[in-house]
Amino acid sequence: MLKRRIYDDEHEMFRRTVRAWAEKEVFPFAEDWREAGCVSREVWKKAGDEGFLCMFAEEKYGGLGLQDFRYDMILCEEIGPFEPGLFIGLHNRVVGPYLHKVASVEQRDRFMPGVVSGETILAIAMTEPDTGSDLAAIRTRAVDMGDHWLLNGTKTFISNGILAGLVLVAARTNPEASHEVGLFWVEDGTPGFTRGRNLKKVGLESQDTAELFFDNVKVPKANVLGDPRGGFRTMMTNLAEERLIGSVGFMARAEHAFKITRDFILQRRAFGRPIGTFQNSRFKMASMRTELDAGWALVDHCVREHLEGVLSAEMAAEVKLFSSEVEGRVVDECLQLHGGAGYMDEYQISRHYRDARISRIYAGTSEIMREIIGRGLGLDERAQR
Ligand SMILES: Cc1cc2nc3c(=O)[nH]c(=O)nc-3n(C[C@H](O)[C@H](O)[C@H](O)COP(=O)(O)OP(=O)(O)OC[C@H]3O[C@@H](n4cnc5c(N)ncnc54)[C@H](O)[C@@H]3O)c2cc1C
Repeated sequence: MLKRRIYDDEHEMFRRTVRAWAEKEVFPFAEDWREAGCVSREVWKKAGDEGFLCMFAEEKYGGLGLQDFRYDMILCEEIGPFEPGLFIGLHNRVVGPYLHKVASVEQRDRFMPGVVSGETILAIAMTEPDTGSDLAAIRTRAVDMGDHWLLNGTKTFISNGILAGLVLVAARTNPEASHEVGLFWVEDGTPGFTRGRNLKKVGLESQDTAELFFDNVKVPKANVLGDPRGGFRTMMTNLAEERLIGSVGFMARAEHAFKITRDFILQRRAFGRPIGTFQNSRFKMASMRTELDAGWALVDHCVREHLEGVLSAEMAAEVKLFSSEVEGRVVDECLQLHGGAGYMDEYQISRHYRDARISRIYAGTSEIMREIIGRGLGLDERAQR
């Protein structure tokens, strides 16, 4: 089994703190949140009290000034497999960085304190009913009205969509040029901004995934993130970090599926012996162990590159592709090893199986990851000329 060398003693101390906190404040409520289709607002505030939200934020906002990505990995590893709907990773490492790195000082002054305390939950809205992979085809439109932008459109499948107090919305700012997209902070309560259903899903039952509607929403100029025509480049820059934190979560769930399956097959008996002692089980577990170790090695390599600021879009696509595909294979094999019990909701493996299905789809599908990697190899249309 691979010995990961990415963490030092301080990280492990933090891991113990997170585990103890989650055992008290998160896991006992997981079943209720599944029923409700949403985690509680209180748990976000408690995470904020603990200092777990946007740890990179400056102290004047209540943050810790802690840039080290590995602390967010630990939150993902320790919470994700057991409470998959609490999307702290999305808040901290997908949307949070836009506020921390791209937003104006005035925007940070206004929004960051609530984001760090857990009062304001973050979401990002790119996908629309007619387009997801093809981001350049979005139809949501922002028109410059002089003293404000007028936003119209519909977004869907938005994580944290019901609870979010602040949504970063991608909208076209020039109907003639598909790549001219702006990013706009839309605050809860802004007239014309409404939410649709909390969408029912295959898995991730406690995650609030929603449709969002923007009907003549007046967005103040002060809420534009960066260049209103340069949002595309900003999103592309941030996607590497999004794919990396996602990969950590995928591997953590796969690792946990492997662990509970090992326990299960040692205890469950058939034909007079533990099923784990059949050669088939042993070989399956051995193959999975090897895939998990390869996945962690790739994740940790990419984390080191990210810490050095050199993680490329292609490597981020590779790690997202590989970790999500490994996760898919592992949860499937693990469920099989559980037999009929694996199909029962009360067995955790059935939930991992359902929760894991999204990993190959969101944050860019496996097909889009292959496109990015392939283009990096010079194998796109331009190579034909
Ligand atoms: C639970 C959940 C949470 C989500 N959270 C968010 C969120 O917070 N914010 C947000 O903006 N979005 C979110 N999404 C949307 C998600 O990112 C998109 O669903 C995803 O990018 C795929 O887009 P699509 O659904 O439109 O599929 P499509 O783009 O229609 O793709 C359908 C199929 O066609 C394939 N395909 C598309 N283009 C190509 C191509 N060029 N080559 C080969 N195959 C291709 C795809 O790989 C896929 O298999 C979420 C989705 C889900 C289900």
